[in-house]
Amino acid sequence: MLLLDIIHLKTQFPTQDGMVKAVDTVDLQIAEGERIGLIGETGCGKTVLGMSIVRLLQPSTTIEGRILYRGRDILQLNDEEMRRLRGKEISMILQNPTTSLNPVLKIGDQIAEAIQLHQKLGKREAKSKAVEMLESVNIPDAQRRADQYPHELSGGMKERVMIAMGLACDPSFVVADEPTKGLDAKTKMQIIDLLREATAHKSLLMITHDLGVAQAICDRIAVMYAGELLEDASSRLILEEPIHPYMQGFINSLPSRGLMPIPGTSPSLIAPPPGCRFHPRCSRATKICERRHPEMVEVEKGHYVRCLLCA
Ligand code: SF4
Repeated sequence: MLLLDIIHLKTQFPTQDGMVKAVDTVDLQIAEGERIGLIGETGCGKTVLGMSIVRLLQPSTTIEGRILYRGRDILQLNDEEMRRLRGKEISMILQNPTTSLNPVLKIGDQIAEAIQLHQKLGKREAKSKAVEMLESVNIPDAQRRADQYPHELSGGMKERVMIAMGLACDPSFVVADEPTKGLDAKTKMQIIDLLREATAHKSLLMITHDLGVAQAICDRIAVMYAGELLEDASSRLILEEPIHPYMQGFINSLPSRGLMPIPGTSPSLIAPPPGCRFHPRCSRATKICERRHPEMVEVEKGHYVRCLLCA
């Protein structure tokens, strides 16, 4: 059953250099219990897509399109309706715990605050639920840790606190933004295991630039480039039989596949290249790729690709 239906989503924000088209006409469906990895290079628009779903964007941002959650358009909700939905039904595990956690508030109180906002619990009960949440994300000595400030915790523990906070009100749908960024290999594996277990019966949009993280947790992977989706398929198909030249290059750039980087750099989101946005870096580009913008097409059941070679 469909849980989230993103239809022709466009998210833009102004800068001194012009309008940044961070999300440009994205369509994405997420079913109940489905876990999707949204991968792409830094600055391709994936975090802005996640922030658009939970509507945590600067007031100057403009959003067009529809985001239907259980058939209800999130973009049409007023602030109070959105606050009620956020946390309780939909939550976001924000990137970078060091800046996302309040440095002057004990971690137990920060989680309890989120719980109190959405559940009719008194302060004491909310605090004890916060300790339970810390235990559930495997923080040892949770009672004592709840009374500590963020700076007293390691990077891995802070990430666990972010996960505890994101899951505190038992949401049906979670957006997790780069939850393993900056962690050492051992802690990263622990966080992957924790997220896999904690979201086993939820829908998840996992934003990451790390294909290994997406593969370890997600059923499906959607690939984003310059504000657009380029390929969307099951994790197995994307990894074993990628079709889009960008995705093939992305896989070849992994250490396990020969470490061959894609030449060139990601394009500007203010003035992306005409035609296919990947054409300046694509080894298979022809003249027509410079002029014609490819549409997403279903090349086989459940495998979508945006490339003129597939049109
Ligand atoms: Fe490459 Fe052309 Fe396909 Fe774009 S449309 S990915 S430039 S072959």
